[in-house]
Amino acid sequence: MRLKRRCGAHTRSTGKACQAKAPANGRCRNYGGLYTGPRTEAGKRAIGIAARSRLAAGDQAKLLAGFRAWLERRRTVSSKVALP
Ligand SMILES: [Zn+2]
Repeated sequence: MRLKRRCGAHTRSTGKACQAKAPANGRCRNYGGLYTGPRTEAGKRAIGIAARSRLAAGDQAKLLAGFRAWLERRRTVSSKVALP
């Protein structure tokens, strides 16, 4: 029987291989740090369009909650991440 695939990335905290279960992409959700927002112009446009369509659908509260949560994560996670 094959063992469950592990992430296997070297952790910064212990220097040992990460023991988290690996998803299809081979690395766990801790790998590479958190998402910091769209980087490309196309990505920024796409997220703007998605946000506007959610607004149009009357999902304003959800949109704002998501945005605030994202801002908060950004603030607490890293001071290295520069605001655009
Ligand atoms: Zn990992």
